[in-house]
Amino acid sequence: MEKISCDIAIVGAGIAGLRAAIAASNFNKKINIAVISKTFPVRSHSVCAQGGTAAVLRRGDSFDLHAWDTVKGSDFLADQDVVEFFVKKAPKQVIFLDCLGMPWSRDEEGLIAQKRFGGHSFSRGCFAADYTGLHEMHTLYGKASALENITFYNEWFATSLLTEEGKIKGLTVINIKTGEMHLFKAKAVILATGGFMRVYSFTSHSHTATGDGVAIAYRAGVPLKDMEMTQFHPTGLVPADGVLITEGARSEGGFLLNNKGERFMGKYAPEMMELAPRDVVARAEWTEIMEKRGFSSSFGKYIALDLRHLGEEKIKEKLPFIKEICRKLAGLNPANDLIPVKPTAHYSMGGIHVNVKTETEVRGLYAAGECSCLSLHGANRLGTNSTAECLVFGEVAGVEAAKYALKHDFSEAPLDKVKSEEERVFDGILGKEGFEKVPEIRKEMRETMNENCWLFRNEEGLKKGLKKIRELKERFKHVAVEDKGKIFNTGLIAALELDFMLDIAETILTSALLRKESRGAHVRVDYPERNDKEWLVHTLIYCSKEGLKFNFLPVTITKWKPVARKY
Ligand SMILES: Cc1cc2nc3c(=O)[nH]c(=O)nc-3n(C[C@H](O)[C@H](O)[C@H](O)COP(=O)(O)OP(=O)(O)OC[C@H]3O[C@@H](n4cnc5c(N)ncnc54)[C@H](O)[C@@H]3O)c2cc1C
Repeated sequence: MEKISCDIAIVGAGIAGLRAAIAASNFNKKINIAVISKTFPVRSHSVCAQGGTAAVLRRGDSFDLHAWDTVKGSDFLADQDVVEFFVKKAPKQVIFLDCLGMPWSRDEEGLIAQKRFGGHSFSRGCFAADYTGLHEMHTLYGKASALENITFYNEWFATSLLTEEGKIKGLTVINIKTGEMHLFKAKAVILATGGFMRVYSFTSHSHTATGDGVAIAYRAGVPLKDMEMTQFHPTGLVPADGVLITEGARSEGGFLLNNKGERFMGKYAPEMMELAPRDVVARAEWTEIMEKRGFSSSFGKYIALDLRHLGEEKIKEKLPFIKEICRKLAGLNPANDLIPVKPTAHYSMGGIHVNVKTETEVRGLYAAGECSCLSLHGANRLGTNSTAECLVFGEVAGVEAAKYALKHDFSEAPLDKVKSEEERVFDGILGKEGFEKVPEIRKEMRETMNENCWLFRNEEGLKKGLKKIRELKERFKHVAVEDKGKIFNTGLIAALELDFMLDIAETILTSALLRKESRGAHVRVDYPERNDKEWLVHTLIYCSKEGLKFNFLPVTITKWKPVARKY
């Protein structure tokens, strides 16, 4: 086992990980920073972000308005101190990227253009056509690659954290190219491993969004927060298993139609219509489908997204990526054809429990970006708030980890834990002659989540789902990886990811059973009302030797008392 030492190890090279690396590097040039990523950095899910990044930049908008939209959008579960901090810091991040050469789309006066996204009451989404994440990633990666104290470990796969007495010591990482496990000794570790919607089968998330970092933290005893809060985005492309059609399409003027040709959003959100928050629009679509006003196809029921009235030219200029997606994945031209869409599993509001400084309960361990839960988004995230979150809290994590690393020395990593991790991976999974197959268990897990933990949930379905996931966890013990070689063994990586996802699915279902109310993205048909008296709290879930444990945290309210949520 080779050892590598670094002051800060960052797991993840998406927007959050890269922003953290640049911030730590700028904080002190003597700190050496390792950025570990299972994919090449610019293949992280962040490149898929199409729509935009929220920031208050114009007169008429204000921090309070952005904060209020976010808090109301969250169905009052967001921690308001976090929201207030975030809205004030977001504009600086947009300017920071601009200074690095980010090609933001511009208005007629040459200023950074902005448009309105769901649940926002002002046009505050900055964008680069509909390739926002791609350009943000290339801008950040370009900068980070030029900084001498950052070393990239691309196509390296983190498997576990090494902690002792509540303090981080390092982590274990497999170099996918050689298949060898390495011990990374680190004074501080930042997890920036992204979301986990690949636990569902109909999803907009990349195949790599398997929640590894969330499961790794959970296994190390770090609590996960609000795991029941999984977001369903209203416009997943139906023939393509949920690939995203950005909210930007509705922001440019796209309509949603049912099979009667009605713009049904008028019934559900008369003021904001198609630009109501995602939970509201997704539920409206699903209701239309359940009440037989959806369209039928060989790919299942759907709702139509109509962009035809925007015309060929506008679509080409403002939504070139959507045009390409429709052509390549569905054989459609949005200037002439209706786009078949339905809700798609899109985002994890829950994740690793951190405070506003991105600190976890383990000293020296931080988390930022989609894998973390601050909680900024509460029960429902607004579009464009996530890339902004990755930038704001990526920077916070980089600076906090740098301060911590400068104050602490290396301490010995617990070698017994390294050894047992090697045994788990190489003897327990790679070496095992089992009879179960990874793709089969994975498919059953995803179908279970789709069937039992979708938009409308109830106790019976959630219990059924949980029972099935626990059976799959048992079956996983007999899983075989057919390729026994070490070099670039993608079968082994898929098995490790599935193992993580089974833990995540279990925590989502358990937390969803626990929360006996309906709030934001979490709707319990058996408890249809929001219940502020009992449930204005965050759920915390812990992995312990005795099994899953729960706790609750109060929601921080600064200015905005919960009121009825109407759009
Ligand atoms: C299709 C789509 C469109 C979106 N559009 C928008 C938008 O317009 N605006 C907006 O604000 N938000 C948008 N979002 C949400 C937003 O893009 C994401 O929440 C955000 O980019 C996540 O960034 P991240 O840095 O946290 O993680 P990611 O970009 O997901 O990166 C995760 C990183 O962790 C690494 N990693 C994971 N596990 C391991 C492991 N075991 N070992 C080593 N490395 C590991 C990966 O290699 C990767 O580098 C969109 C999301 C999707 C899916």
